Amino acid sequence: MRFAISSGHALYCRGARGSPVPPQLDEVDQARRVVDRVVEIMNTVNVVAVKFHDNTSRDQSTNLNTIVAWHNKQARDYDVSVHFNAYNGKAHGTEVWYYSQAKLAGKVSAAMAKAGGFTDRGEKYSNGLFFLMNCHKPAVLLEVCFCDNTADSNKFTSKFEKICQAIASSLSGVAVGEPPVETPPEQGWPDDPLSIPVESRPVVGKGDEGNDVRDLQKLLNKTELAPGLVEDGDFGNLTDTAARNYQASRGLDVDGIAGQQTWGALYENKPPMPMPVGIFTSEQQHAIMQIAHDSSIADYHWHNRGIAPPGYMQGMALAFAANYVELQRNHPAAIDMAKARTSSDKDALNIYRSEFDNLGMSNEQSGPDTLRHLYALMLGHGMRESSGRHCEGRDQSASNTSSETAEAGLFQTSYNAHSASSPEFDNLMSEFSSNQSNCYLSAFAEGVSCSMAEWENYGSGDGFHFQKLCKECSSFAAETAALTLRNLANHYGPIVRQETELKKDADVMLQAVQDYVDSITLTA
Ligand SMILES: [Zn+2]
Repeated sequence: MRFAISSGHALYCRGARGSPVPPQLDEVDQARRVVDRVVEIMNTVNVVAVKFHDNTSRDQSTNLNTIVAWHNKQARDYDVSVHFNAYNGKAHGTEVWYYSQAKLAGKVSAAMAKAGGFTDRGEKYSNGLFFLMNCHKPAVLLEVCFCDNTADSNKFTSKFEKICQAIASSLSGVAVGEPPVETPPEQGWPDDPLSIPVESRPVVGKGDEGNDVRDLQKLLNKTELAPGLVEDGDFGNLTDTAARNYQASRGLDVDGIAGQQTWGALYENKPPMPMPVGIFTSEQQHAIMQIAHDSSIADYHWHNRGIAPPGYMQGMALAFAANYVELQRNHPAAIDMAKARTSSDKDALNIYRSEFDNLGMSNEQSGPDTLRHLYALMLGHGMRESSGRHCEGRDQSASNTSSETAEAGLFQTSYNAHSASSPEFDNLMSEFSSNQSNCYLSAFAEGVSCSMAEWENYGSGDGFHFQKLCKECSSFAAETAALTLRNLANHYGPIVRQETELKKDADVMLQAVQDYVDSITLTA
C-alpha cells in the first residue's frame, strides 16, 4: 500500500492560526511537521509514502490545483491531506473528512484522538471538498485538532510523536511504535481448540477478545484461506476477513460472525464448496477492468458526485460484459433488457429518447447496441443513486424500511420492482443466489469502504434476500436495475427528473469492452 501525503494550504497562502502562537498553533507550520514525520515513520516500517508541501502558490485556487495535480502524478493507492481546524477558540477535537472512505476516516480519527487525548469528532462525509473530489485515488482529509484551541494545541505539542505514529499506523495498518498488547493465554486453557465442546463456544465477532477468539484464529489458520493470521486473541479486520472468506467458501451465511454454524463447520472440517464456473477467466476479467481504467469516462467528473470509484468503473465493465454474453446466449432477461425502445413512460430509453438521439445512440432495434446504450445510461444512473458504491444501504432519511421497499446497492432498487419484470427479475435472483461466480464483488469493492450500518438489510424473506444480494453481488444489482429501467423506470427519481447523466464516453468504453469480448474465446 502506497501513500501520497500533502500538507494543507501553502507557504504563501496560509491556513488557520491560533492566537497567541504558542501555545496555540499555526496550521501550515504544524501540518508540514506532521506530514514530514508521518512519512518518515511510514518509510521506516517499509510503507511507501511520498510527501508534498506547496511552496509556490499565492492564491487558493492555484493552491488546490497544485496539490491535487501533484497527488494525481504519484504512483500510490491513497491520497491524504493534513490540516488543522479552527473555529471559535472553544471547539476542539479531531475529525477526518471523506467522500468514499468512511471506514478509513473513522479509523484514523479514532487513532489520532486516542493518541493525543482529543475528543473524537469522527468521520465526516463531504462531496464538496476539492481535494476529496479531485484526487483520483481514495482520499481522506485529516483535521488533526483545533489550532485555535489552547487545550488541543497543548495536547498536540506534548503528544506530537504519538499522534504521528497513530496516523501512520491507522492509515497503513502496519503497527508502529510500541508493540501491540496481546491478551495472554488464560492459565490452564487447553492447547487444542477441539478439546472444548463446540456447544460451549460463544458467538464472537469484530471487537471481541480472548481465548475463544484465539481458538477461532487457530482453526481458521488450519484452513487454506487464512495464511499467516496472527493468533493474538483479538478479533480485528484480518480475522473478520478470514471468517467471511471461510464462510463464503463453505456455503455458510457470510456475516463475519462465528456462531454455532461457523464453529461447527470448523470443528467438522467441512470441505470447501466446489467453485462454480464463471463466464470469464481471471485474465479476461483483468483485461476488461483495464479497458475501464484506461477509458476517458473513468476520469469524468459526474455532476455533484465527482469521479467514480475505480471499483465502480471496472465492475460495471464486467457486469456489461457478462450481460452481453448472456444476450448472445438468448438469456430471457438479457433479451428483455435489449429490446427496442418502447413508447412506455416506464421505459428509461423512451424517457431519455432525445438525449440518446442527440448522441447518435439509437435504440430502435433490439440487440447488443440497445443493451450497451442502456448500460451507458446505467453508468450515470449508479453514480447518481449511490456515487458508485456497491454497499450503499437504504436512504436513512426515508421511511422505506420494509422488506419490499428498502432500497439497496448501486442503483438503490427495492424489491417491490420485481413484479414489473416478471418472471425474469425473480429468475435472476435465484440464478445469482446459486452461482456467485459472476458477481464481481471484489472488483466493485476497489476504492470503496463500507460501514457496518450500510451492510444492514431490512425486513425478511425475498425482500431481505434481495437487498443482501444487491450489495454482495453487484452485477445482480446491475441486471435487476437494467430490467427495472426498461419496465418500471419511474421507480427511480433521478430518471423521472432526468438527473441521471448520459455520456457518449460511457458508450465508447462499453463498446471497447464489447469488442474485446467478441475477440476472445469463452471457456464456460
Ligand atoms: Zn486547513
